[in-house]
Amino acid sequence: TQACLSEIDRADALGAFVHKTPEIALQQAAAADARIQGGAENPMCGVPIGIKDLFCTQGVPSQAASRILEGFKPEYESTVTTQLWQAGAIMLGKLNMDEFAMGSSNETSCYGNVVNPWRRGNDETQLTPGGSSGGSASAVAADLCLAATGTDTGGSIRQPAAFTGITGLKPTYGRCSRWGIVAFASSLDQAGPMTKTVRDAAIMLRAMAGHDPKDSTSADLPVPDFEAAITGDIRGRTIGIPKEYRMEGMPAEIEKLWSDGADMLRDAGAKIVDISLPHTKYALPAYYVIAPAEASSNLARYDGVRFGRRAKLAEGDGITEMYEKTRAEGFGAEVQRRVMIGTYVLSAGFYDAYYNRARKVRTLIKRDFEDAFDDGVDAILTPATPSAAFGLGEMADADPVQMYLNDVFTVTVNLAGLPGISVPAGLDGQGLPLGLQLIGRPWEEGDLLNIAQTVE
Ligand code: GLN
Repeated sequence: TQACLSEIDRADALGAFVHKTPEIALQQAAAADARIQGGAENPMCGVPIGIKDLFCTQGVPSQAASRILEGFKPEYESTVTTQLWQAGAIMLGKLNMDEFAMGSSNETSCYGNVVNPWRRGNDETQLTPGGSSGGSASAVAADLCLAATGTDTGGSIRQPAAFTGITGLKPTYGRCSRWGIVAFASSLDQAGPMTKTVRDAAIMLRAMAGHDPKDSTSADLPVPDFEAAITGDIRGRTIGIPKEYRMEGMPAEIEKLWSDGADMLRDAGAKIVDISLPHTKYALPAYYVIAPAEASSNLARYDGVRFGRRAKLAEGDGITEMYEKTRAEGFGAEVQRRVMIGTYVLSAGFYDAYYNRARKVRTLIKRDFEDAFDDGVDAILTPATPSAAFGLGEMADADPVQMYLNDVFTVTVNLAGLPGISVPAGLDGQGLPLGLQLIGRPWEEGDLLNIAQTVE
């Protein structure tokens, strides 16, 4: 813990930690030490980790990287972090992220960007760690902590994991409680581990997962020993390669990563089959209707009355001006864009044309996966991202749709509620890490982790 705390202080320039909690960390470390002396067996006991700022942590600033939550210190602790502390994990602090988890480069944060510890060869250009869990990814990749929590609504664990050469797992929807995690799009949000290895992800997921009566969508299912499922034996397993993910203009190195991944699985005894997920091309548009729709509803609570910041009012301003000024000052440009898109697609005249249409598309996407699993596929292999990490500022100034295209391989998994993992699987021509994604059957994270370890 002490080593991590001093590394964190040395690495301020990365911008990964937005709030450090050394007192809590040292106290928890002393308690963990005593538990370990007493023979504690939980493998999370004594492990120093970072927490994405989206998680409410009692008495510790929890701002979702938004100005609108300035000064907000929750009086409660999220279920996932509560379980981690019960397992003996140690909180080093809160990690930077895109504002309200909206973004793919960590550049929408009110705290400023995060720097990816990786560089393109000798080129000193600073790169994004991806987003929205950019602080988590950078902190783990730079060895500031042994692991971190992330959340994934459309790829926010898997894309930053791929950009920083670490492992990121989005569990099945309902595996981890969403209680106490600031809501972005409630039907898509899931918390998950961001770790150095697949085995670490299995260990951390076990501590994070489980039924919680405070989240009506959390599944009442036993939490298996995911680590025990990692046997290294994948003989006879069937891995599907979906042809719709072979996008036009895909860089040759991403194609190569993908076919090398398939070769590794084949060499380990798996059967590789071509499959079709015909509705894939509608996933991104459906996601960018459903996620903003839910966000516009979830973010209605930030009104200057109940949480965080309230704008300074002028003489004669009434409650409407108070709402308007607070939300105009408190929300950044990307969040405002999402709220506007969301309220538009939910408005009486457009509800059927956009929101309901997107929900139908979502069902079709889910069925594509169900059909593949019914045909005997155990997991699906795709690239995690369409490129390696890009330069800071390179995309932020472009058309927002360019940024949204980063999520092309990841959003399908959230729409279908499935578990997905990004595993570091190689380097591009400039020495940057690339990630492979494996998508598994619902509730079969153990099996997914076992298969993923083959390409690690
Ligand atoms: N990049 C996607 C978005 O901006 C996904 C974000 C996420 O998974 N939280 O919506």
